[in-house]
Amino acid sequence: MTNVSSGLGKRLDLELAKRWRSTEGQITNFLHEVGLTGEVHNQALYIFPKRTANTERSIEQLRIATADDGIWCFLSSEADGKRAVMAWPVANHIPPKKILLALYVEVHSRLVSWWLTNAWRSEQLARAVWQLGDSEQIIPAAACARSLVETAAAFWADGRKLGELWRSVKAETAEHGPKLYHWHDLTMQIWRMMWGAKFDNKVPELAKTFELLPRTNVLGLIEKLQRATSDVMQHDYQWLCNAVHPSIGGMMAFASPMMTHDTGTVAFQFVAPFASHIESSGEISAEVTIDEAVARSSILAVAVLRDTLDVTLQIIDDVALTTGAPTMANFKYWRMVSQKSRNALCPCRSGRKAKNCQHVWTTEPPRVTEKFKIASMS
Ligand SMILES: [Zn+2]
Repeated sequence: MTNVSSGLGKRLDLELAKRWRSTEGQITNFLHEVGLTGEVHNQALYIFPKRTANTERSIEQLRIATADDGIWCFLSSEADGKRAVMAWPVANHIPPKKILLALYVEVHSRLVSWWLTNAWRSEQLARAVWQLGDSEQIIPAAACARSLVETAAAFWADGRKLGELWRSVKAETAEHGPKLYHWHDLTMQIWRMMWGAKFDNKVPELAKTFELLPRTNVLGLIEKLQRATSDVMQHDYQWLCNAVHPSIGGMMAFASPMMTHDTGTVAFQFVAPFASHIESSGEISAEVTIDEAVARSSILAVAVLRDTLDVTLQIIDDVALTTGAPTMANFKYWRMVSQKSRNALCPCRSGRKAKNCQHVWTTEPPRVTEKFKIASMS
C-alpha cells in the first residue's frame, strides 16, 4: 500500500492526497503502453508548393533535378489564377489516380510529430509537477502545474478541431474522392497547431515573421476546458497564476495562517521555505491554498491529457490506415502502422482483429471527448 501522506500529500485532505498519489506517472505509463521509449524520435516531410508561370516547364525541370534521386510525385495546381507545382519523394510508383493520396505522407508524418511533441511536453511537465510538489518546491511546482493545465487545454482544443476536420475530409472523400484542398486544410491545421506564435510589436521583426500563424489565446482555451470539466479548474488556475506571478499566491506558498490575538489588535504570522503548520490545542492548521491548487489542477490536467493523447493517436492511426500513407513514404518515421495480416490485432489498439477493424473512407473516425466526467474535488 502506498503511503498517501508523504510529499505534497501530507498537507492535503485524505481524498485529494489519495488522488495525487494515484495520478502520478499516468502519462508516462500510457506512453510506455503505446511503445514510446526514450529512444523514439520522428521525422516528418514538409511539402512546399512552388509558384510558377509555366507549370509544364517547372515540372520538367523538377523531373531532371530529381532524376537520380529515387521516385518522386509531381503535381501542379491552379487556384485564383495562381499556378504552383509540388514535388515530393515516395517509396514506390504511385498511379496518377492515387497521387493525391500520396500527399498524406506529409499529413501523417507531421501529425505524428505534433502528437509526439505534445506527449513529451505533457510527460515532462507532469513529472516535474509531482517531483517538485513532493519536494516542497511549491513555486516551481505551481509554474509547471499552470503550464500543464494550459497544455491540456490547448492540446484538447486542437485535438477536437483536428478530429472534426478529419471526420469531414473522410465523409467528403467517401463521396467525391480525394481533393487537393483536403491536403491544404489539413496541413494548415497542422501549421497552426505546431507553429502558432505570439510576439508583439515591441519586437517588430519577430511579430512580422510569425504574424501569419497567431497562437490561440490561452485564457479562452482555459475557459473552454473549464466548461468541459469542472468549475474548480478556473479557481485553481487563477491561484496558480497568482503564485507564478510575484503576487499573493507567492506569499501564501510560504506562509502559515495568521495567529490573531484574542484582542484582535495584533497577529503573528510565520513564513518558512518548507511546508509548515501550526498546532494549537490539538488542532492543526496550515495554509494549503496553493498546494491544493497544484494538486487538483494537475490531477485534472492529467485526466484530460491521458484521454486526449489516447484518442488523438487513434485518429492519427486512422489517417495512416485509411490513406495507406506509411506504405508510400520513402523514409522511416514513428507511427508507420499497417494491417499486415487479417488475423493479427489491428495496430490502432482497438483490440479487434484487422479483418474486423475497418479503416476506410466511409467509417467514422474516433471522437475526441466533448465533456469529461471529473469527480468533484472541491
Ligand atoms: Zn483498427
